[in-house]
Amino acid sequence: MESWERELKQCVTSPEELSGLFRIDHLPLAEVAGRYPMRITPHYLGLIREVGDPIWRQCVPDPEELSDFSQSPDPLDEERLSPVPGLIHRYPDRVIWIASAACAVYCRFCMRKRGVGCSGMKSAPIEEAASYIESRPQIRDVVLSGGDPLLNSDDRIDAILCRLRKIPHVEIIRVGTRVPATFPQRITPRLCRMLKGHHPLFLNTHFNHPAEITPEAAAACARLADAGIQLGNQTVLLKGVNDDPQVMRELMRGLLAIRVRPYYLHQMDLVKGTAHFRTPVSRGIEVMEALRGHTSGLAVPHYVIDLPGGKGKVEVPAGQVLRDGSLLHVRNYLGEEIVYQDLA
Ligand SMILES: *Cc1c(COP(=O)(O)O)cnc(C)c1O
Ligand code: SF4
Repeated sequence: MESWERELKQCVTSPEELSGLFRIDHLPLAEVAGRYPMRITPHYLGLIREVGDPIWRQCVPDPEELSDFSQSPDPLDEERLSPVPGLIHRYPDRVIWIASAACAVYCRFCMRKRGVGCSGMKSAPIEEAASYIESRPQIRDVVLSGGDPLLNSDDRIDAILCRLRKIPHVEIIRVGTRVPATFPQRITPRLCRMLKGHHPLFLNTHFNHPAEITPEAAAACARLADAGIQLGNQTVLLKGVNDDPQVMRELMRGLLAIRVRPYYLHQMDLVKGTAHFRTPVSRGIEVMEALRGHTSGLAVPHYVIDLPGGKGKVEVPAGQVLRDGSLLHVRNYLGEEIVYQDLA
């Protein structure tokens, strides 16, 4: 057993363990954790400063998860778009490959809350998924997702990547993983050596708060970057966690400093059990306007809504634009209205 596998056994998985650690009499959360599993790594637990802070909110069950009746477990229709179990094919040229149902930390706001950590979500059977991709030459981009694909053994990840690399039309492979933030011990030198053999490889990680950018996370990202892997980041806009211009600016700058390029800022999906994290789109625009022009353009992600019904992602524009004939009225980062002469 590798040391990261031993570490994973030290995770907190029941609310009672928290009441002892944080000296709270009684946390009435067993029912919530029974419905939506809980797991917190020792590393992530160590980032909690106080009950209810942004780290706590992301990982500790909340009774509100069970009182959200308005939404669907799968608003993006991922199940309908699965031609093979564990493969989501929505866009013509790329697919999502569910490589694991498990995560190091179960995020309370997860868009796959319907299945992560449960027997209901299945990872794609390697041969079946690979044959599907092999017989469709238009697929040139495969996104390994989950769950967290890096909760697999190195050997299993290697087997998936080797199989995909036998398919000539698969140009790029992406890995979507939150372990650099929640479980940096998983990014071992051995894992990085293995990944390095499968370029061009992109890895999108998932940091939501500046407190997640620890020395351990920075070291994990450095090991990946040194293996030549392009690092991006997907952040979810979360009420009470990062729906604040200052916090978001600190997060995005902090990511660049650990060699991670912000990619997406996601508006919360309309997933059942997560309503208490939702913010209005106007808040997202406000946060984006506090980035553009106020810090490096490299620190500015694309703010996207993943449309219900599997209709795809759309970018939400910031910086209001009005057209008057061939004149564009735009607002710059200082809030000034500027008129730009377009081609007539
Ligand atoms: C987000 C997503 C992708 C990847 O989209 P990009 O915009 O290329 O990053 C692919 N398939 C599905 C189903 C997705 O939700
Ligand atoms: S790591 Fe990703 S897939 Fe896993 S619970 Fe968190 S958001 Fe969901």
